[in-house]
Amino acid sequence: MREEKTGALHLETVAVHAGREVDLGTGAVMPPIHLSTTFERQPGGGYTDGFVYTRSDNPNRRSLESCLAQLEGGAVAAAFGSGQAATLSVFQALAAGDHLIIPDDVYFGTRTLALDILARWGLQVSVVDMTQLDEVRAALQSNTRLIWVETPSNPLLKITDIEAVAEMAHAAGAICAVDNTWPSPLGQRPLQLGADLVMHSTTKYLGGHSDLLGGAVVARAEDDYFARIRTHQTIGGAVPSPFDCWLLLRSIRTLPYRMRGHSEGAMRVAEYLADHPRIAAVHYPGLPTHPGHEIAARQMLSYGGMLSIQVEGGMEEAIAMAARVRLFTRATSLGGVESLIEHRASVEGPLSKTPANLLRVSVGLEHPNDLIADLAQALE
Ligand SMILES: *Cc1c(COP(=O)(O)O)cnc(C)c1O
Repeated sequence: MREEKTGALHLETVAVHAGREVDLGTGAVMPPIHLSTTFERQPGGGYTDGFVYTRSDNPNRRSLESCLAQLEGGAVAAAFGSGQAATLSVFQALAAGDHLIIPDDVYFGTRTLALDILARWGLQVSVVDMTQLDEVRAALQSNTRLIWVETPSNPLLKITDIEAVAEMAHAAGAICAVDNTWPSPLGQRPLQLGADLVMHSTTKYLGGHSDLLGGAVVARAEDDYFARIRTHQTIGGAVPSPFDCWLLLRSIRTLPYRMRGHSEGAMRVAEYLADHPRIAAVHYPGLPTHPGHEIAARQMLSYGGMLSIQVEGGMEEAIAMAARVRLFTRATSLGGVESLIEHRASVEGPLSKTPANLLRVSVGLEHPNDLIADLAQALE
């Protein structure tokens, strides 16, 4: 894992200290949870800390947003009630008639937002293989305003060159947003690579314990585009609860160390499976055989905890393998301390383009040897 500093401090330190203040009223080292929906107005008309009503702003959310902005090296952040609400705010900050480019291998919910919900509101959408820069270039139109990148992609872990796509977007008068959920701010620094916005499903690694739902948008600059995202958050009301903000900030304190464990474990599991005769393919950007490895090695600080495997045979063999694991839990989602395995095509439904023999694996923080032993017995 390469070292990364934001400003003078290392990310490990930022994760512990950002958005943290000793409570002035009580001296509490850990922050209280502010459940109050409303805040007292001073006789003169002002407010003690600028808080008026919790949908507009809340102390726990403000601390979280400050931490998220610092972690990604951005100017400002907006926290949402889910990753999908965060993505929707980025899309809805566009205008009817604007053109958006998304990758073909993208989180299923992102695709549905763009092609189903927002297409009906007049957004034009092109879907391209974003690993092929020529395809992105060919899709550009005079009204292209946003290129949405997801790398590594879901579920095939395709790698997109963020720097190249951001450059292309800017030359065309568009902005570039990156879904950085899978690598986390520890594994990939999109704003440093030229992107304008970073989106997170904080439900995953930032939350880290499969017990909270949340999303975030971090912006390089507090500009007009971000102001529209902020309006969607506060007026649209897609905000996280104070308790979820508190819980998420608590989790972020250990994120750098959890990401080390996830990445190390995933690399070990990927190497084991790559040599297994009953595995037809392993998709993990840390493997030198991965078609995107060279770009990943350049733009990622660590390869993350997600991988996909294709089981020899077809859907039946894949589902049978998932049925035999004991330590892994068969469930959707990712980024928690516990390892998960999922037959993706049957979750995505009839429109899915995912190979039928593909299992998506979220490597948790168990000892890699125990995970490998479990996979070995499931493949016997
Ligand atoms: C889970 C996920 C989302 C959606 O986030 P929710 O918190 O479930 O709304 C978006 N992008 C990626 C890459 C994800 O894994």
